[in-house]
Amino acid sequence: MNIKRILFPTDFSEGSAHALPYAVDMAKHYGARLYIIHVIYDIAKTTGWYVPHVSMDEVYRDMEQAAKKELDKCWIEEMKGFKDIERSVVTGVPYEEIIKFVNENKIDLIVMGTHGRKGIDRILFGSTAAQVVRNAPCPVLTVRLPVQ
Ligand code: AMP
Repeated sequence: MNIKRILFPTDFSEGSAHALPYAVDMAKHYGARLYIIHVIYDIAKTTGWYVPHVSMDEVYRDMEQAAKKELDKCWIEEMKGFKDIERSVVTGVPYEEIIKFVNENKIDLIVMGTHGRKGIDRILFGSTAAQVVRNAPCPVLTVRLPVQ
C-alpha cells in the first residue's frame, strides 16, 4: 500500500477527537503527511434557505478565524510530536468539501469519526460520515466512540 497523504476531517466533536490517534498513528506508520480540515457549514448551500449575503460574510469570517485558532491549538498532545501536518478551514457542505479536498490533494486514506456533533446540526445536515464513505474515491477508516 502506498499511503502518503492522510486526511482527518474534524468538526471538533468528541467523536472526531476519538478518531485522531488513529489518523496520527497511521501517518507515523506509513510516513505520510496528515491533512486536517474543518468545514464551516454554508447554511444557504446546505439547507437552501435564503440567507442575506452581507450579514453572513462577516459571520463566516469570524467563524473561519475561530476555527483556524481551534485547529492550531487543538490536540497538540495527541499529535505526540508528529509534525508533518497541514491544516485547512473551508466553507461549504462538509461532505462535498471533504471529497473535493481528497481529489485536489490526492489523498490516499481518510480517517474520521463515525459520529460528530449531535442535535440540530445532525437533524438539519445529516451524516457527513455516510456521505463521505459513499462518495470517496479512496478508503475511509471510520472510528466509533466506545459503547458505554
Ligand atoms: P457526522 O456524520 O456529521 O455525525 O460526523 C462524522 C464525522 O464527520 C465527524 O467525526 C468528523 O470526523 C466529520 N465531520 C463532520 N462534520 C464536519 C465538518 N464540518 N468539518 C469536517 N469534518 C466533519
